[in-house]
Amino acid sequence: MIYPKLLINKQKLVNNLEHVIKLCHTRGISTMGVTKVMSDNDVINEIFAQSNLDYIADSRIDNLKYVSKKPKVLLRIAMHSELEQLVEYVDISLQSSLQTIQKINELTNTEHRIILMFDVGDLREGIYYKDDYLSIVGEILKLENIKLYGIGTNITCYGGVLPTIEVMNRLVEIAEKIEKSFNLKLEIISGGNSSSYDLVAMNTMPPKINNLRLGEVIFLGRETAYGRAIAEMHQDVVVLQAEVVEKYFKPSLPDGKTGLNAFGEKTTFVDEGEMHRLILGIGRQDVDLEGLLPFDDSLRILGGSSDHLLVHDSKNKYKLGDVVNFKLSYASLLSLATSKYVNKEVE
Ligand SMILES: *Cc1c(COP(=O)(O)O)cnc(C)c1O
Repeated sequence: MIYPKLLINKQKLVNNLEHVIKLCHTRGISTMGVTKVMSDNDVINEIFAQSNLDYIADSRIDNLKYVSKKPKVLLRIAMHSELEQLVEYVDISLQSSLQTIQKINELTNTEHRIILMFDVGDLREGIYYKDDYLSIVGEILKLENIKLYGIGTNITCYGGVLPTIEVMNRLVEIAEKIEKSFNLKLEIISGGNSSSYDLVAMNTMPPKINNLRLGEVIFLGRETAYGRAIAEMHQDVVVLQAEVVEKYFKPSLPDGKTGLNAFGEKTTFVDEGEMHRLILGIGRQDVDLEGLLPFDDSLRILGGSSDHLLVHDSKNKYKLGDVVNFKLSYASLLSLATSKYVNKEVE
């Protein structure tokens, strides 16, 4: 297969999934497996389908169009222009505006389940937790085709607010108020994403929180509040492989009057003398270069353009046609998985 290539290790992915699911289930927390960082990948969808995940979740309806035995959850607040598709392909959706929920109610004559989102401080989606939400809930409960399946929140996403017990209890309080005011039981109280992992691992999650939506922790083996690698999990489920297309021994300083680079950026250079310089066949059209880290620590990324990645081969180990392996950040995995120029291979 042609490089660049995303190499997906099936066994490591299965191990990561099993670890997270087991931990959550022993604490009474159901799991939504979030596939969006891998785009719409058949193999991943199949692995998720075979797992003990309780739900499959993605932010794009396109990625949820396949048939699944598990309930499918749409994470991104739906656009009005996609509501026909929503009621056709999605079982449960995250919602935050009464107007949208009313439109969904008009578009279907079967039950559509919603998770009403609350902003507990991170300033991304949801009704602000200090606002009057009970009147909105009252209106939702009048809609015959809408089932208020639960409530949820999203943190450490925009504002970087950490999933502390205090912040989680804001959601718990909302749940209790809704249940008491309307004499109902919410099926799901969804306490966030991979940044909430540690609260579960340390068994400090308030017991009322009974669901998490997890993506990054499954694919990259790290919680996302502090970016800590989880010892029992694999950080290299997905690896990028790129091929060396040029190698020269050249200076480290550009020679001539310098202006802006191809991306309109002003660049600065340090004179390190002459060095072994590799060019790899991958660039900013394929990947967020900031998030790449070579496994071989004798390699250092110098920079890149649309199609080329420049690397310092400090130990003069590589030759033309060799393949270099990289660890990935969330942003780089997201861009690689979405690029049609990057082949995906499962081992
Ligand atoms: C992407 C997303 C998640 C999953 O986040 P991770 O950090 O990958 O676990 C959860 N909830 C919502 C609403 C999302 O958009």
